[in-house]
Formats: sequence, structure tokens, C-alpha cells
Amino acid sequence: MYLTPYGAVREVTGSMHLITAGEDRILLDCGMFQGRRKEAEIKNHQFQVDPRLITNVVLSHAHIDHCGRIPFLTKQNFFGRIIATRATHDACRYLLRDSAHIQESDAEYLNYKTVRSYLFQQENSRRNKELSKRKIIKIRRQLKSDTHRINNEAVNEMAKRFNLVTVTPLYTMKDAEKSLDYFESYPYGVPVSIGKNTTVTFYDAGHILGSAFCLLRITENGKTFRVLYTGDVGRFDKPILNDPTTHFPEEDKNIDLLILESTYGNRKHEAVKDFKQKLIEIIDETTKRGGSIIIPAFAFGRTQELIYVLHEIYNEGKTQRLPIYIDSPLAANMTKVFGEHPENYDEDARKEFLEKGENPFMFDRIHFTQTVEESMRLMTDPNPNIVIASSGMCEAGRILHHLRYKIHNEKNTILIVGYMAENTLGRRILTEGEAYENNKREGEPPLLNFLNKSYPLRAHVKELGGFSGHADRYEILEVLKESKLDIKKIALVHGEEDQALAFQKFLEENGFKVKVPYSGEIINID
Ligand SMILES: [Zn+2]
Repeated sequence: MYLTPYGAVREVTGSMHLITAGEDRILLDCGMFQGRRKEAEIKNHQFQVDPRLITNVVLSHAHIDHCGRIPFLTKQNFFGRIIATRATHDACRYLLRDSAHIQESDAEYLNYKTVRSYLFQQENSRRNKELSKRKIIKIRRQLKSDTHRINNEAVNEMAKRFNLVTVTPLYTMKDAEKSLDYFESYPYGVPVSIGKNTTVTFYDAGHILGSAFCLLRITENGKTFRVLYTGDVGRFDKPILNDPTTHFPEEDKNIDLLILESTYGNRKHEAVKDFKQKLIEIIDETTKRGGSIIIPAFAFGRTQELIYVLHEIYNEGKTQRLPIYIDSPLAANMTKVFGEHPENYDEDARKEFLEKGENPFMFDRIHFTQTVEESMRLMTDPNPNIVIASSGMCEAGRILHHLRYKIHNEKNTILIVGYMAENTLGRRILTEGEAYENNKREGEPPLLNFLNKSYPLRAHVKELGGFSGHADRYEILEVLKESKLDIKKIALVHGEEDQALAFQKFLEENGFKVKVPYSGEIINID
């Protein structure tokens, strides 16, 4: 009986781990790799386990780096089930379709570029001189049905005619829709049979709506082994969500292997209670300058937490009630998922909103923009407002266009509320913006490249650590100690190498036996 981690090992994305126990081969998560485009694309296309051999999938939560490759798995003759909590299942209905749409659009755009540059080259060599503007426009028109839309039929037809190598999306909308048929969802605390000799029970991980610690009980030769996979561990006292579970039934306290995340294994966060006051200060400062606040945020989780906290702040009358725009159709759908699962809210959310007959996510200052036209109007709106848009790490999506219009203006604030992975625009905004602030905003502002142009970062950059969805090293230690689990050994995953190694040392100092595995390494469960 053993564990083979394949993704999110010495890095944060692409979570995927295989438990092999007799005939049962249980895949824990099936996430997408993110980061440098080319590198991520190669990694996402390599599925290290033959999908036909996997008996079932256990899904910890609905973040794309944990569930994003499910349609890629189900389109390759996987015959098992995908076991998740009810909220995770509901979130995946929107998330996986959205992901398919991104995959399709990315592939269409790359193929358009391939054909376009081939036609430019052909024209160049034929005329043996620089292409005229008129000719460039003519070629572009051939490949587009209007200014924004690519004419896929024309692109594909030309790619075929000229024998050009094109890319296919990792999966399509049809694949994503088909993958949803494989899901089965269950409440927390119920043992579910997932193999010949294996069950899984979900416990609230407090990381995001529906997130779960997955406790596997595997029986072999009359002896029962327990593997606890944390997925991502949330923080205590976060808005809306329950705290991470620290009460496990007596019979489940002996853990043979704990597969534990380490995103912030070397960090200590700001206290959750402090961030509300800081958010009020940021709104006040920005309002005084007459500016707007732009917040890149994941559509599922961070966006709803922000709505919830802003609702509280506005109810308490503690700041200017700037209009809030959620500029993401996915975030609007994900907010519905939050609305549909009040059974997962914590005591505070129940008391503060539900018992008063209020919806935490709907009030007079909140607006959900749907169409591209609405979004474009908002980008050029001169009135101060708060815009929350995705993607969370500023790698794609509508947030880039808001930044394009607002990054150069020192009246505005870019508010970072989430984890920014290496090599993302979000990380560059954060590090370069903070360096500029620390330098008292003297000298030339940093220049950032995106959307094929260079922009000076004059907007103020602020970070609110309290919103992090991941526990820091002390909070994880608290979960382990409070729960009084007797843990034989720990495999650390889901953390950049320096975080994982520092956390290993910290946990060893606290008496645990810890390993930081490499991808494909076998870890025995005995
Ligand atoms: Zn997560």
C-alpha cells in the first residue's frame, strides 16, 4: 500500500496523488498546473497514470489547481466515480465549463496566430519587402468574423490547406459537460465506499465552500490503515466558513500517513481580525484621493468573502459606500453556489445575515456585470468604485483590462488579497509595487508588460494577508495539535520548495516525522 504524488510536489499547482492499495487505485485530486504558459501546457498534457487503471477519484475542493484536469481524465476512458462534497460538485458545474471555455479560446487564439504569421511570411517573401498596413489588415480580416471574434472555420481551413501544425485544447466544453456525469456528492461526516476495501469521509477544511479533509480508511489483511489528505487547509475565524475541523472521531485519530499542504509553510499571516480595519483604511485613503480600487480575486471563494466583508462594513456604516462591481460571469455563478449552501456557513454568518432575513451576498451597492459591453463601460467609468474581477493572479480575463485603464493613475489602489504564484503578473505587481512604495514612491515607477504593452505602475499597491485561504505554519500546527491526531508520518505537498523544506524543519522540531517527496516517488503506508 503506497502513495505516489504526481503534482503539486515542491510546487503549488497541479495537485494529484495516487493511493495504490491492492486493487484500489484512488486518485486524490486531479488539478491543473499553472504558471509559465509553455511549461504548464506540457505538464498538463502529460497524465502520469493510465486513466483506465484509476478506480475512483476523491476530490478535496473546487479550485482549478485541484480539479482542473478532471475532464482531461474522463475523456480518456476513466470508468470510476468522482467523489466530492455537495458544494464542491455544484461549484464544479460552473468551474469546469469555464475552464473548458478558456482551453478552447486559448487554442483558437494560438491557431489564429500560427495561420496569421504564416500568411504574413508568405506575403513577405512573395513581395520581398515589408508588408503594407493595408495588406496586414486584409489578412487579419480574412481570419476574423469581426474585430473581437476569430473565424475558426477560416483558420482551420487555411491551417489544413497549408499543412500547419495546430494545437487542440486540453479539453472541450463537451468533455467538461460529460465529466460532470461522473460526479457523486455526499455531505461531510459520512463514510462513502470508494473501493473494494476503502472508504472516504469528508471533514470541513475551512478553506473554501465545500472544501474537505479526506480521510481514507483502507483495510488490508484484517488491519485498517488511515490516510488523511488535507487538500488545502483553511484559516480560523474566516468569514462565512467554518474553522478547519479539529474534532475527529476517536477511532480515526491514528493516522498512518498525513498528506499535508505547505503553501505558507514558512510564513506567519496577519491575524484575521485585523484585516477588516485595514480594508476600511484602504477604502478611506483611496476615496480621499478620488480613486478606485481594483481587486484581482478568484471567482470562487475570495470574491464571496470580499462581498461578505464589504457588506458587513457597509452595514456598520464605517466607510464610504462606494459601488461594488463583480466583473466576472463566473463569479456571479459561484456566488449562486454560495447562496445555495447556507448549511456550510459558520455561526457568525447565520446570526449576522440569515437570522435577520438578509442574503450576505446581495445588497444595494453590489452589481454583477455580465456582458462585455457592460464591462467595457465600467473600465472607463471615471466615478470612484470598487471592482472585483478575475483572474486571481492577473494572468488573463477582465482584470487585465481594468488594470490597463487604471494602473498608471496614482489615485487608484490595486489591492492584492490572494496568493500570487511565481511568474505571474500578480506577483510582479505585488513585489514591484511594494518596492516602489517602500522607496517612498520616488523615481520612475516600475514598468509592467501585459496585453502587448508596457504600463507604469503608479497606482498604490496594498496587500491584505488576512484574506488568505491557506493556513500559515502556526495555524496548521494548531490544527494538528488541537485535533490530537496520532500521526505516524507526514508527506508535505502543495508548497514551493523553500516553503516546503522550511516547514519540514519546523514540523520536525515539533516532533513529527516528515518527508518532502519528489514527483513519482513512492511512499509506503505501513
Ligand atoms: Zn484551494
